[in-house]
Amino acid sequence: MTVNVDVKTFPLFINGKWEPASSQETFDVFNPADGQLVARVAKGTEADVDRAVQAARDAFDNTDWKDMNPKDRSKVLYAIAGQIAANAEELAFLEAVSSGGTVRRIGASDILQMVDLFQTLAKFTLDYPFSETLPVPPFPGPAHNFIWREPIGVCAAITPWNLPMVIATWKIAPALAMGNTVVIKPASYTPLSTLRLAEIISQVVPPGVINVVTGPGAEVGEALVRHPKVDKVAFTGSTEVGRKIMSLASETIKNTTLELGGKSPNIILEDADLSIALPGSLFGVFLHSGQLCESGTRLFVPDHMHDQVVEGLVALASKIKLGHPLDPATDVGPVISKKQKETILSYIEAGKQEGATLVCGGNAVTIPGCEEGHFVEPTIFTNVTNDMKIAREEIFGPVLSIIRYSDVEEAIRMANDTIYGLAAGVWTKDVNKAYEVARKLQAGVVWINDWHMLRSDAPFGGYKQSGIGREMGMHSLDAYTQTKHVHTSMVPEINKKNWYGILFSDTKQ
Ligand code: NAD
Repeated sequence: MTVNVDVKTFPLFINGKWEPASSQETFDVFNPADGQLVARVAKGTEADVDRAVQAARDAFDNTDWKDMNPKDRSKVLYAIAGQIAANAEELAFLEAVSSGGTVRRIGASDILQMVDLFQTLAKFTLDYPFSETLPVPPFPGPAHNFIWREPIGVCAAITPWNLPMVIATWKIAPALAMGNTVVIKPASYTPLSTLRLAEIISQVVPPGVINVVTGPGAEVGEALVRHPKVDKVAFTGSTEVGRKIMSLASETIKNTTLELGGKSPNIILEDADLSIALPGSLFGVFLHSGQLCESGTRLFVPDHMHDQVVEGLVALASKIKLGHPLDPATDVGPVISKKQKETILSYIEAGKQEGATLVCGGNAVTIPGCEEGHFVEPTIFTNVTNDMKIAREEIFGPVLSIIRYSDVEEAIRMANDTIYGLAAGVWTKDVNKAYEVARKLQAGVVWINDWHMLRSDAPFGGYKQSGIGREMGMHSLDAYTQTKHVHTSMVPEINKKNWYGILFSDTKQ
């Protein structure tokens, strides 16, 4: 498939306007499916970060954006959802040609998720307890007390390349719902959809409420995290960079949310219905070429079912059709880059070296018409042990490790024997057994007889080194607010203020 893309230059998006980077430089964005240049994008600098943060600061401090009543704010969120739906085709195209995600997935899932999240938070905003009245207490004395929930201020969002628009939305939607302003830095492989999304959103919100600075993580990302006028950092990316961000954010004690890597365990129990468990497990690991943080990359299988499960998985995996992401017949597109392809291939080599048995895929492939693309076959290893590198490290590619177990307790123990805790899954016909296993799994989300089922009204985030905090749902609104306790005394006479007597003996009654 050949795709002709009109190569455009995307400036930075600051204060409601397109602006070139202060460096006047750009960087290139290529289609990972065919190596074609798709856009040139402004290479932002620390000075640009400063401008964007100042615009966000002014919009927060000097306009009535943060004071908008919940009814009007809810309308703003519904309007953004409408704008996303109206521009769905263009957004999906920009996403597909830079991230390698298939239009089939982006159209059927990503766009719907984004619209649904804005609509869900629009609903939640109406009921959110912005002000809560506490009962009059006997202690420390008669008073009216409120808890007010207020926006935090300027929020920096730093996002990865795998699901750029969806992950940007997880941050932008709750930030705007609570009256914050945003400066977002997308990954350099995939900045296009975020830039267009910001432009779309800015048609509904005042200038400066949403800003985008593109450019290298080490320069633009770090400058944002360090900036003294940024109040919160919301990061999604690797655990390695997450560690760095946490440490940089500590310099100014910033409120920080981290969504990091995973090595999610998936347990098939003896009584599982394999007609669902096998396609479900492959859906859990090969969607988007395994470049999803909550992919089920370690599959635990009962010893005696091992051969049957492997045979079934290999038969299904070999039917997955690799191709150009814009071709609706494509099941799986490329991985993001040559570098990522090489990383994945080096893990496959490590699996072989450590003694795992390669039963499916294992190679880079050339797709006719996409000769310059970065494609890796869906790959399955069996005879993996939980201490092998391919079972311990996040590969972020289409590689499944199958690990045998003899009893469920052993499977759960191995499932939890990881630094990560993002997602987990269990396949069984016995719902009570499923809950028992789910209770013991250390993960932020557990799927029973399913995978990848994230909801706008449910929290998503990691246990252990998979992150701090939760996105989506009511929890995400809490993550973009800070609380203030306001006390109003109901005791107007000085001689009745008993507590003052602790300091002034002559005010005692
Ligand atoms: P990455 O950590 O390399 O980069 C993420 C973002 O951070 C990019 O925008 C990058 O430019 C920026 N960055 C890099 N160095 C920085 C620095 N020193 N300071 C500030 N910003 C910096 O991750 P990636 O390769 O883009 O994405 C893949 C990773 O993201 C995987 O580990 C995956 O598991 C994780 N991920 C997690 C979730 C989740 O919700 N938990 C979702 C998607 C992806």
